[in-house]
Amino acid sequence: MIELYRDLIIDHGVNPRNKYILQCFTHSAKGFNHFCGDNFILYLNIIDDIICDISFEGQGCSISMASASLMTLSLKNKSVEYAFKMFDYMRDVIKGNIKQDSQFYDINVLSNVKNFPSRVKCATLIWHTLNDALLYKGKS
Ligand code: ZN
Repeated sequence: MIELYRDLIIDHGVNPRNKYILQCFTHSAKGFNHFCGDNFILYLNIIDDIICDISFEGQGCSISMASASLMTLSLKNKSVEYAFKMFDYMRDVIKGNIKQDSQFYDINVLSNVKNFPSRVKCATLIWHTLNDALLYKGKS
């Protein structure tokens, strides 16, 4: 199981999905992790509280890249409410404050980073960037 998780992180870290600048977006935020140098810009196109499109640009270690890649896949065509729920879940599960919930199986691979405290900021960076974009960085 651990092997599988590691392969998934490596796959998304090396070949991140949805890594490009979104031409049309309503929300955007920048995230920087000065411990590691991970540096991202997140783009969201939200119509009627649905995340119709989501992408990111930037550079980072494989864990931060995998986290961003998996996040874009899991939030596309989901509601803003669901995105906040996922942010709360990720923040808490990665600290080990709550147990893994199978409802979020597609991002649970990331929660294994909780065993490596120095990498937690790498995995959560894009999620804090998401929260920032949704709360404060809307264009309208
Ligand atoms: Zn990193």
